[in-house]
Amino acid sequence: MKTIQERFWAKVATPVGIGECWSWTSYCHRRTGYAIFGINSQTGVPAHRFAYEQLNGPIQKDMVIDHLCRNRSCVNPYHMEVVTQKKTFAVQYYAWINFVPDCN
Ligand SMILES: [Zn+2]
Repeated sequence: MKTIQERFWAKVATPVGIGECWSWTSYCHRRTGYAIFGINSQTGVPAHRFAYEQLNGPIQKDMVIDHLCRNRSCVNPYHMEVVTQKKTFAVQYYAWINFVPDCN
C-alpha cells in the first residue's frame, strides 16, 4: 500500500530543478485551473497546498498560497508564498484577466 505522499508525487511530472514548475498531471479544477489531489474517493484538496504543507508544515488558518510563478497547476513548494487572503485577491485580480485553465 502506497503512502499518501507516494500517491501524490506519482502525479507530478518527472521532477525537475527547484527553479522550474512542477506540473500536476492529474485532475485540475475546470473553472479555476488549480490542481486537485484526491485524498480518497470523496475528498479532494488543492494539490499546491498539499505540496506546500509537505515541505513547510500546516498552513495557518486564514492564510492562502500565492503562486509566485502564476502557474496554477504548479506544485513546486518553492514557487509558493503564504499570504493573507486580501493580498492574494489583489494579485489575482490582475492575473485573472488573461487566465485560461490548462486542464487535462
Ligand atoms: Zn511554478
